[in-house]
Amino acid sequence: MTIMRIAVIGAGAMGSLFGSRLAAVAPVVLVNHRKAHSDAINAEGLVVEGLDGLRRVHRLAAVSDPHTLSGPFDLAIIFTKSGQTRAAAATAARLLAPAGVALSLQNGLGNREVLAEVLGAGRALVGVTAQGATLVGPGRVRHAGDGPTWIARLGPDDRVAAAVCSLFNAAGIQTELADDPDRLVWGKLIVNVGINALAALLRVPNGVLAAEPACERLMAQAVAEAVAVAHARGIDLPYPDPLAHVRAVCRRTAENRASMLQDVLRGAPTEVAVINGAIVRLAGELGLAAPCNTFLTTLIAALEATAASRCS
Ligand code: NAD
Repeated sequence: MTIMRIAVIGAGAMGSLFGSRLAAVAPVVLVNHRKAHSDAINAEGLVVEGLDGLRRVHRLAAVSDPHTLSGPFDLAIIFTKSGQTRAAAATAARLLAPAGVALSLQNGLGNREVLAEVLGAGRALVGVTAQGATLVGPGRVRHAGDGPTWIARLGPDDRVAAAVCSLFNAAGIQTELADDPDRLVWGKLIVNVGINALAALLRVPNGVLAAEPACERLMAQAVAEAVAVAHARGIDLPYPDPLAHVRAVCRRTAENRASMLQDVLRGAPTEVAVINGAIVRLAGELGLAAPCNTFLTTLIAALEATAASRCS
């Protein structure tokens, strides 16, 4: 598969970061509903603050209305929040060539399934990334964390995922192939279950969660419920001790503000429904109890619903 043109659909923090790298090796268009972001990129370029503190300007095209674009594109990278995946998939369906593929690197459960419903399973790639980014203003993104990206093969003879993986590596995004999409997605999901809702409710950076015994008890229960669901579904998790892994991620990213905390602080909808909420739903289907994730999901929903009335 030759990748000629890439559309990043949902080019906020992460999509802009990935787009800026990929633009060095292929033509990239950033598609983002935030008009101010697209306008700033088209006028001044995309400014990326690197982990080294340096600012680099990347010249690439951005649009806020995807109907102004004509295809065909070979690859659509889906980087909306999970609640907008279906709309992003519809855009991808319109922009992609018949053999073009979409890749979700989003957090949460169900994104691959939505892409597969809209585009067909053979055109729906999924992966996870340990990269991190924050949108600091229109046209400005801060690279907040570095780490590998993994993409799951569509099958044993899949050349599509291999082509995307090569392209990412050529662009300087360290990427590896994996065989089992569920292992990838659940490996990341359990980290998000342990960290995101707690960080958002307590308003603390990740490191605090692993340092305070009361936080750790809640984290342990949320993670144990998620692991029970994963085991009941036959998911082969990529680490032997999930709680130890989540704690290690907290320590490694001690200063980071989890994305759910950032969403709550700016009054934006969170992805709780596809993180802790997904554990509640699946536990219910399996006849398992998930009281901690039920409580965390309900509290985050209440926090979102009452944002406008918050006392300072
Ligand atoms: P973000 O909110 O910064 O970016 C999403 C963008 O999508 C927004 O700018 C929004 O305007 C745009 N959008 C929404 N619907 C759209 C549509 N239909 N078409 C085009 N654009 C649309 O979010 P983010 O922080 O970049 O996160 C994106 C995904 O990546 C999430 O699933 C998140 O959990 C995951 N993720 C984030 C990080 C991080 O460090 N930020 C790290 C790993 C994974």
